[in-house]
Amino acid sequence: MVKALVLEKKGELSLRDFTLEQTLGSADVRIDIRTVGVCGSDVHYYTHGKIGPFVVNEPMILGHEAAGVVVEVGADVRHLSVGDRVCMEPGIPDQTSRASKLGIYNVDPSVQFWATPPVHGCLTPQVVHPAAFTYKLPDNVSFAEGAMVEPFAIGMQSALRARIQPGDIAVVAGAGPIGMMTALAALAGGCAKVYVADLAQPKLDIIGAYDGIETINIRNKPVAEAIAEATDGWGADVVFECSGAAPAILGVPALARPGGTVVLVGMPVDPVPMDVVGLQAKELRIETVFRYANIYDRAIALIGAGKVDLTPLISATLPFEESIAAFDRAVEARETDVKIQIELPAS
Ligand SMILES: [Zn+2]
Repeated sequence: MVKALVLEKKGELSLRDFTLEQTLGSADVRIDIRTVGVCGSDVHYYTHGKIGPFVVNEPMILGHEAAGVVVEVGADVRHLSVGDRVCMEPGIPDQTSRASKLGIYNVDPSVQFWATPPVHGCLTPQVVHPAAFTYKLPDNVSFAEGAMVEPFAIGMQSALRARIQPGDIAVVAGAGPIGMMTALAALAGGCAKVYVADLAQPKLDIIGAYDGIETINIRNKPVAEAIAEATDGWGADVVFECSGAAPAILGVPALARPGGTVVLVGMPVDPVPMDVVGLQAKELRIETVFRYANIYDRAIALIGAGKVDLTPLISATLPFEESIAAFDRAVEARETDVKIQIELPAS
């Protein structure tokens, strides 16, 4: 039995003992969990009991953004040792699948992803995880930052999909955590300037505090007008759609320059209309993003090199014993909160 934060069913969390199979295979490591970030998807399972086709039918442990310390290594593990500080990729693909062989293991239909029913998450003191999806943290990267690598990886995947060129101007629609991560990844990837648009001023104030990021409050000015003014009517080289909001998606062509790129990052709950002719008339290239593949190494490298500082985005840290309070605060969705993290005691 282990202690765990369990989503019993929609709307009901408990911190209780749980029976979890944790056998260490020869290619696995056992990890003492230290920090876990609360993600929008965890919160959505809590409030709605499902995301699309994934339905919580049985009690499930939440959490997928984690960092910790290796306490045991399988017989075949070479690149990790006991005592290593690490963070983990929460999606484990079938490593022999066609998608994995193509390097697109994020879209492997059989991927097992933490805290996606029926797979348990990591809000428990120890996990067993494949060493191949466990990454060593540099000494100067904290557990808190290590647990931020997962959401940052989505921003990184978005920036890579955009194929940013040095000096590009980007616009990010939506200043939620993923919008912020995308803006920072786009800057680190070579953008000269990134405009972030939202209607929540407190969120814009947080991301606008970074050098190289300008904010647009769409309550005051339509984003298309602001981008036209900022680019002499030409448009942005890259548009990152991170809001998932239907009107924003419809308005995407107006933000991009002719021949520019649109990256669809945000996930609308229902199918939404797109302005196909608007996209065609500028020959915009459309890219989509689902999680990430082969991103963790480069994300950790950027953080370790001091090129990306994610610590201003950590809004609150609560102890494991107060996990339910942490989730209830995340449900409140305060405009001044970006990421709430849960800390587990060192064993
Ligand atoms: Zn997440």
